Amino acid sequence: MSQITCDVIVVGAGIAGASVAAELATDRKVVLLERESQPGYHTTGRSAALFSEIYGSAAIRALSRASRAFLTNPPTGFAQAPLLAPRGSLFIAREDQLSQLEAFAQSPDIAGATQPVFAEQAIRLSPILRADYVAAAVFEPDAADMDVHGLLMGYLRLFRAAGGALHTESEVLGAAASPQGWRIETRQGQFSAPIVVNAAGAWADELACLAGVTAVGVEPRRRTAITIDGPAGLDLSETPMPIDIDEQFYFKPESGRVLLSPADETPSEACDVQPDEWDIAVAVDRLEAATTLQVRRVHAKWAGLRTFAPDKNPVVGFQAQAPGFFWLAGQGGYGIQTAPAMARLAAALIRGQTAPQDIQDEGLALAEIAPDRFA
Ligand SMILES: Cc1cc2nc3c(=O)[nH]c(=O)nc-3n(C[C@H](O)[C@H](O)[C@H](O)COP(=O)(O)OP(=O)(O)OC[C@H]3O[C@@H](n4cnc5c(N)ncnc54)[C@H](O)[C@@H]3O)c2cc1C
Repeated sequence: MSQITCDVIVVGAGIAGASVAAELATDRKVVLLERESQPGYHTTGRSAALFSEIYGSAAIRALSRASRAFLTNPPTGFAQAPLLAPRGSLFIAREDQLSQLEAFAQSPDIAGATQPVFAEQAIRLSPILRADYVAAAVFEPDAADMDVHGLLMGYLRLFRAAGGALHTESEVLGAAASPQGWRIETRQGQFSAPIVVNAAGAWADELACLAGVTAVGVEPRRRTAITIDGPAGLDLSETPMPIDIDEQFYFKPESGRVLLSPADETPSEACDVQPDEWDIAVAVDRLEAATTLQVRRVHAKWAGLRTFAPDKNPVVGFQAQAPGFFWLAGQGGYGIQTAPAMARLAAALIRGQTAPQDIQDEGLALAEIAPDRFA
């Protein structure tokens, strides 16, 4: 059994753990522990890969804006291909949803990033939308597809190049605090460090309980996605992603097919979650009501756990009553697009620094994401 001592132990090699581990490894000895045999196996590997600056709470939107520069212009050698590709998002409303669309577009940052469009324009942008369904929309031209695999691999490459060590098949089974710091038990060995980062995704509260730390109450919720054929003879590849304004469904051109989700948020235990046939049927039903597309065959189906704090803001910071225990959890449905800023922010707080100025300038207040806000 090996015994390794380091400066920081990061638990969870999804996008949250990989990105903060890479940020910290430049001047700390960091160990990244992952239960599965490969990083990104859980929620990170199951996303819809959209970058949208108008999606999520004000805190999420601030973190997304502060992530764009990295995603547009990552460090040299970080990725083989661009991390962002043009897509656009189109938040659509029926006649009976117009007040929600109006309220949504009133936040100054959302208004600044979007153009209101009439039904005819919405249909020109996404030609399978039905004229008798969509009444108006809000178009975000700068929303983009993300290369999630490229982003994760880029962070892991940076991490290793800086001397970081990734241990897969290393589930944290026990965590104990002592005056010398944290001692973490896995089947592969023991790891000690003054700081533990909880980037365990859907298992974040379980990891806290294992460490004797008060849970913050993050809840995993299942979200389903499928891919289907696009319309015969109509190329959707350059059309934006329509999203129902009440988030009842969305669809997106994806490698010659269409990715469709019923935008479900079903509470779930933390597990290797699988799609439910009912959710797939709901997705198809909602798509066929809103578009001229008829679903004949489902090519791929999957589900992932989006994990939310009660206020849907992420949970980032040290737990006051548990010295050295740092939360990086509750990324919800926005953990990929916010990862670059969230990792820089988390690394700064772990180093005892203030939040990076550009993130503060976007209007993020630490109190909005502090673990102690639920105390
Ligand atoms: C269908 C769907 C669509 C989505 N679309 C988008 C999108 O368009 N844009 C966007 O930004 N986000 C999107 N998301 C959300 C995004 O995928 C998540 O916010 C993000 O992946 C969370 O990353 P994470 O690292 O926190 O979690 P995870 O990727 O789940 O990583 C946590 C890791 O911790 C490990 N772990 C847990 N417990 C232990 C333990 N005890 N010991 C060792 N390891 C442990 C797990 O094995 C796991 O690998 C979507 C999610 C879903 C499901």
